[in-house]
Amino acid sequence: MTTAEDETATPVTETLRSVNPATGEPITEWPVDDEAAVVAAVERARAAAAHWRDLGFDARRTALLRWASYLVTHTEELLALMRRENGKPRDDASIELILVLEHLDWAARNAKKVLRPRHVAPGLFMANHEAVVEHPPLGVVGVIGPWNYPIYTPNGSVAYALAAGNTVVFKPSEYTTTIGVWYAESFARANPELPGGILTAVTGFGATGAALVRSGVDKIAFTGSTPTGKRIAAAAADSLTPVLLECGGKDAAIVAADADIPAAADAIAWSAVSNSGQTCVGTERVYVDRTVYEEFLTELRNRVRTVKAGVSYGPMTMPKQIDIVRDHVADALARGGRAVVGGLDSVGDRYIEPVLLVDTPEDSRAVTEETFGPTVTVTAVGSVDEAIRLANASEFGLASTVFSRRRGMEIARRLRVGATSVNAVLSFGAISALPFGGTGASGVGRIHGAEGLLEFTRTQSIARQRFPIGVALLSFRRRAAVLGLIERVVRLRHGRHR
Ligand code: NAD
Repeated sequence: MTTAEDETATPVTETLRSVNPATGEPITEWPVDDEAAVVAAVERARAAAAHWRDLGFDARRTALLRWASYLVTHTEELLALMRRENGKPRDDASIELILVLEHLDWAARNAKKVLRPRHVAPGLFMANHEAVVEHPPLGVVGVIGPWNYPIYTPNGSVAYALAAGNTVVFKPSEYTTTIGVWYAESFARANPELPGGILTAVTGFGATGAALVRSGVDKIAFTGSTPTGKRIAAAAADSLTPVLLECGGKDAAIVAADADIPAAADAIAWSAVSNSGQTCVGTERVYVDRTVYEEFLTELRNRVRTVKAGVSYGPMTMPKQIDIVRDHVADALARGGRAVVGGLDSVGDRYIEPVLLVDTPEDSRAVTEETFGPTVTVTAVGSVDEAIRLANASEFGLASTVFSRRRGMEIARRLRVGATSVNAVLSFGAISALPFGGTGASGVGRIHGAEGLLEFTRTQSIARQRFPIGVALLSFRRRAAVLGLIERVVRLRHGRHR
């Protein structure tokens, strides 16, 4: 039997339990927002959109910088929450927050410069016109996030969408809901004078994300796995809702004969294993020039051997990923690969110790599929050309790393990826002005930098006639002599390059 009160209450059919991945201990429960709850959140965001847009660049910049300052003054609270719900050590959470602050700052300070109206030359025949390219915001942007970098990753869309003048509805991963809600609500806490609805979180599993895709938002910015990205693109096609897809990767590192080998080993060890390998742009494959292979392998092995799960990095955040990592290691070993650090025993119930694989066939799952664990394959190659060919022979094209003293830029330019770090790892992700995103199965569109701001705008061209000229060309009143005159000018102008 239902009461009058029950009928007016929002029906919550399920709850989402947030747990500590290191211990399995429950943290809190969240409602699973259904279609109606998502639509209501989008309506609130729509109602706030005109106010936020009309504030203009300067006032939005103030609000975003105030948000950054709020995050600074509440750092320890946020880091403790990230440690508890995502599992990462405090230092890793701190680096993630530092990058969030840098991007927030860049987006806030550069939106005006990148997006302000731009005058362009009208051309000879339209000389009586003013021509302007404008970049108004889209309206409401739906952001769907993963759990591996629970604030850095969504912030790449949220900060840039807000700076461009959009309001945002954010669906955090079901594995890091508490962090996501804290992050979203902190914007309003930092800016209490602003109306609600500028940045709102909705909570739930994939179905809540799917409801956000169908909700009528003006763009979906998704970060997550490639299969989910494909489902979102297909669902968004129905309404032609534009999508930005930041999907999976299988990043390769190339170590050339002239590389600084200890530096390469040090950086690649961190890229492959930190965050328990749960980094979309972490190194999963290494191609090393045969002449320096043994030296590199020894250096890498010495470094990876000293790294301990539970000390240097946290548990696997998503339990079902553990089976995938185990399957990839087992497949590599069954097909002639050897583990020179760790092995199948390294895969525990919550933590995975580092695994360094060699002699792994190029068609094994550890080379072709995203592993998303603290494992890496190392393969000797006969030349830079072979390394580039193997690195590019992947359906993914997210990012890459090159170590070479003299040929770094040349090799980087031949890699079919969205970003490359030369003589360092992951550095492109920490340079706010550099766009971030992939190609192929790694997705479409860019976050960060000027391109990341432009993603959240529509381009509008305005041609304004400043004064009429006697030669009306686009009119039924056009005189035959006018077109004849213009044809002669066109012949002179364009017909002389023979
Ligand atoms: P996932 O695809 O399982 O989930 C991502 C988000 O999508 C979650 O919030 C989930 O609830 C939601 N979702 C699931 N099904 C949906 C649907 N049908 N419609 C709408 N939303 C749906 O990914 P994950 O396991 O959370 O994250 C790990 C993946 O993310 C890895 O593949 C990693 O490489 C990728 N990633 C990519 C980047 C990048 O910038 N390219 C950054 C971080 C992570």
